[in-house]
Amino acid sequence: MTESCIFCKIVQKEAPASIVYEDEKVVAFLSIQPINVGHTLVVPKKHYENIYEIPEEKIAYMYKIVKKLSYAVQKAVNAEGIRIVQNNGETAGQVVFHIHVHIIPMNKDSQWVHRLENRAADALKDDARKIRQFI
Ligand code: AMP
Ligand code: ZN
Repeated sequence: MTESCIFCKIVQKEAPASIVYEDEKVVAFLSIQPINVGHTLVVPKKHYENIYEIPEEKIAYMYKIVKKLSYAVQKAVNAEGIRIVQNNGETAGQVVFHIHVHIIPMNKDSQWVHRLENRAADALKDDARKIRQFI
């Protein structure tokens, strides 16, 4: 656990999140500033900053869960496509320095850079419930 890390706080349940999936190694929750409804983040419970730090078997496991959840996210929001993104370093757009994989539902009018306004906690809870139905 890194004290100032928001994702470590979510893992420890010291900060709120709309959790979609959890096991002993990873947690997946909804982004508070989603690109589209259903935008999910898959995070290892242990703090690694980026793809260089995380051991190979741990990122392999994360992607196993990414695959499982991509299906659930796609079904839950009826997305035409799903974009998988993982940013490393500020220049690449990394803002939270605890490695995470984005699962982003995309539709014809979706724009990569445009984020929805901060989504209300109640709406996020409802989105998470819909996704969990398909896991
Ligand atoms: P990145 O730019 O790849 O580091 O992505 C950071 C992601 O974390 C964005 O989707 C943010 O909306 C999301 N995010 C930041 N803080 C929180 C939080 N407290 N709960 C949920 N998502 C968050
Ligand atoms: Zn962390």
